[in-house]
Amino acid sequence: MVKNNEKTENEELRATRVLNSVNVKFNDPLPNVHTARAIIASCGWIETKDGIVLIDTLNRRHTAKQVKERIKDKIKYIIYTHGHMDHVGGASVFLDDNPEIIANKYLPDRFDKYKMLAQHRAHINAVQFNVPETLDSIKYVYPTKTFIGDLTIKLRDKTFELHTTRAETDDAVWVYVPEINAAFIGDLIIGRRFPNIGNPWKPTRFALDWVKTLEEIRAKKPKYVFCNGAGVMVKEKEAIEVLDANIEVIHSLHDQVVDYINQGMHITEMIHAVKIPKHLENSPYLSQVYTRVEFFVYNVYRWYHGYFDDNPAHLIPRPEKEVLNEFFNLIGDPKKIMIRAKELFSQHQTQLALQVLDVLIQIEPKNIDARKLRIELLRDLGTQDNCLMSKNAWVYYINKDKGFFNSK
Ligand SMILES: [Zn+2]
Repeated sequence: MVKNNEKTENEELRATRVLNSVNVKFNDPLPNVHTARAIIASCGWIETKDGIVLIDTLNRRHTAKQVKERIKDKIKYIIYTHGHMDHVGGASVFLDDNPEIIANKYLPDRFDKYKMLAQHRAHINAVQFNVPETLDSIKYVYPTKTFIGDLTIKLRDKTFELHTTRAETDDAVWVYVPEINAAFIGDLIIGRRFPNIGNPWKPTRFALDWVKTLEEIRAKKPKYVFCNGAGVMVKEKEAIEVLDANIEVIHSLHDQVVDYINQGMHITEMIHAVKIPKHLENSPYLSQVYTRVEFFVYNVYRWYHGYFDDNPAHLIPRPEKEVLNEFFNLIGDPKKIMIRAKELFSQHQTQLALQVLDVLIQIEPKNIDARKLRIELLRDLGTQDNCLMSKNAWVYYINKDKGFFNSK
């Protein structure tokens, strides 16, 4: 949880300084279409004879201001592709021309939720992104117009066809501009990466609606697809290949989870049993650098399945610590746990070693040898891991264990 100690304040200042020194990279991928990227956030704007349509707004005022300096005409519309902070956080910079701000009907609920869970979000963002645990300082700019379904904005020389969907979030909008045959799809595809379906810290995402939406986008046969706000563009043959790869992998993984749920497989077995189809394993469009298959599986499972895992011992369980304490006393000697955890580690069963060691750490959180061993285990998991979210988590908990030693 957020602490107001000196260390956190220093970390916060450092983080703010880093974020405020970020320079935006600009691109002009098509005539009258411009994009901007700033670390994890991106946005795009389209010039029309009736003014600018801005799609997403970057994540912070500092970077958004750099975009604003580039935009010469009046901003007529801002369209939020969804309410994630890296798409809406810079909006307050673009309000001079009093633009209409259009979003999915459910987007304001997201802003309300973010405010309600500010402290929890500070914590999970620290783990997920490996950043200091600080409260959001973002000014939420609520939309001036929301809708569900389809909405068409006809400007003099361009048409903007807006469609709502549930995909990464329940408040998504994707945009098609027929005059340039371009689709602006927010995070429905995150560049050439495995789709971001599944995040250990976040509510469930909508795999089936997501893939249906990608099929609708593909049906337009778009020549240009702008992803991630707009900062990544794929075009022509590659645009269709990226869409096809995402569509196929989502259908396949989703259907495997559904089959296994129907078969009654336990979720902890399911995350290891579900596999990407062989011919897509090395697809250049599906690298698991941000998220991973296991998170996808948990996500689809959570959407369709209650918490209960068909084991009566788990229907209304006692607190985990109380149960582990019983096992701990039965084992009778903390050294036995250490020996077995080390043995498993030496056999390259690091995850299993971590879970065995957890019996000891939960009961004796100040056990120095156990905490030292946990650092080694987490380091090993981190070095084997290419997925940003899980890698960040290993690092976060290594630092937490290191903090334990520093405080002694
Ligand atoms: Zn997003």
